[in-house]
Amino acid sequence: MSDRNILVINSGSSSIKFALVNEDQDEFLLEGLAECIGFPEAVVNWKENGVKKSMNLNGADHAGALAKILPVVQEVSHGKLTGIGHRVVHGSAHVTKASLLTPEVIKVIEEAAALAPLHNPPGLMGIEASLAVYPELPQVGVFDTAFHQTMPEYAYRYAIPEYLYTEHHIRRYGFHGTSHLYVSRKGAEMAGLPVDDSCWLVAHLGNGCSTTAVVNGESRDTSMGLTPLEGLVMGTRSGDVDPSLQIHLHRTFGWTAQEVETMLTKQSGLLGVSGLSNDMRTLIEASEQGHERAALAIEIFCYRLAKSLAALSCALPKLDGLLFTGGIGENASLIRRKTLDHMRIFNFKLDDAANQACTRGAAGKISLDGHPLVMVVPTNEERQIANETLELIDAIAK
Ligand code: ADP
Repeated sequence: MSDRNILVINSGSSSIKFALVNEDQDEFLLEGLAECIGFPEAVVNWKENGVKKSMNLNGADHAGALAKILPVVQEVSHGKLTGIGHRVVHGSAHVTKASLLTPEVIKVIEEAAALAPLHNPPGLMGIEASLAVYPELPQVGVFDTAFHQTMPEYAYRYAIPEYLYTEHHIRRYGFHGTSHLYVSRKGAEMAGLPVDDSCWLVAHLGNGCSTTAVVNGESRDTSMGLTPLEGLVMGTRSGDVDPSLQIHLHRTFGWTAQEVETMLTKQSGLLGVSGLSNDMRTLIEASEQGHERAALAIEIFCYRLAKSLAALSCALPKLDGLLFTGGIGENASLIRRKTLDHMRIFNFKLDDAANQACTRGAAGKISLDGHPLVMVVPTNEERQIANETLELIDAIAK
């Protein structure tokens, strides 16, 4: 086992998700979640060598929580912690790759908070706490937006007046980049194709959902835009709606900006249509028992996903395969089948047995020979963040 371990941190407003990743080991040494941070019931639960453990955080804030997690990390890594990789959602157009968390980079994250108000501020809380608690370690930001910085201008610009782009940075950025990068590389490896000469459509379907067209290892277009609301139907997010909807709700019914935002981001998507749940598993079970709105939510989800994939095919010179990932993409054979059923002119044809077998981490080809390749490729954002953190630490050491 390598001596090099990276602690990966994904900080939310009241939670810190973490994993201790060894350079050589597939399994994480440690995986955990601190929850209710800042509240009396704050607690951290983690899994260490398959054993579940838990510790009361006594109302700790982010720094207090990390200070309690550190001794566990040090013990499990036998004091061999090489660095820390932080997931950061928005790096604006300034950040194109993983970056050391210098004061300049932290300033970029602060400035991009206007574009990602729900994500960057809690991410920064984790970063600042971690820099305070582990000042001697190299700490790296790995940005969800970075992978998409290779999109051509015609893909990332909106057709709105230019000053909104030049003065206010309003453009499409794209998200889930760490996952799309990992999955497209892994997909190329699984298919035996060189990353730099292969073209993929990737569907990342979790609570948030996005599609990306990847050409020779680079993102050429993606479904999310200025914020992670654009594009596909998601758990609680609407995805694309007519932009006039907001004006209509305001003008006709007096809705405030806040009310519109809450509706579109927290009460829409699978939850909004089904009236039941944002969770695809629940909806599949309910639709099998005749719940009509759950069935409709699934239909809209799959049709819109198919439409997005077809649209993104415009960014590809050829198609080497379609890759499904994320909790839904990795597990839900029904969603994969229904989506491809809408894409008849692509000539996809699933191997039903293989499609059904791909669940709970099982990966591989689910299409029939003689038809375009379709694969299930489990994502691993923690591994990708650890890899990019190590690569940067090595580059700096040279
Ligand atoms: P996040 O974006 O929060 O990381 P995940 O990638 O874990 O989310 O995906 C969560 C989604 O995956 C939920 O909608 C969940 O219902 C769905 N999911 C997980 N397992 C299954 C399954 N066996 N069948 C259908 N959907 C599943």
